[in-house]
Amino acid sequence: MDIEAARKRVGQLIVELQALERMLSEGSPSFPDAMQELVSKGLCLNCKEPLSSKKTRAVRGNHESCYREIMREISAGKLTESEAISQGLILPAVGGGRPTKMTRVKELVQNKALTDKLAEGAAVGKKKAKGEAKNE
Ligand SMILES: [Zn+2]
Repeated sequence: MDIEAARKRVGQLIVELQALERMLSEGSPSFPDAMQELVSKGLCLNCKEPLSSKKTRAVRGNHESCYREIMREISAGKLTESEAISQGLILPAVGGGRPTKMTRVKELVQNKALTDKLAEGAAVGKKKAKGEAKNE
């Protein structure tokens, strides 16, 4: 396989994997019942202070600033949105809103995250194979 054909194939694979990942992530994470109590009491899911204590709007069960704090960790890759929801940090997003426009930088970052994940998976696979070989 020449380099050009290999590049083309990698491109196709990335597109296919993105579609797969989208499918997988569509199984929406569930918000824990235990945290519903904070929601019903009108408390912020992050700092647990009343949402009315700050004169900003509430976003997905958080003070705006608390929500931004969570989003910073998510964009830093230290947390995923699904984790934040299943840990009861943010409420699941309600449909609607403007669809996010795919920009070149978003595409690049997504592809990078995907290839990093793949490399990680490959490394784990190798380690597993090595361990199995040792046991024999
Ligand atoms: Zn807060």
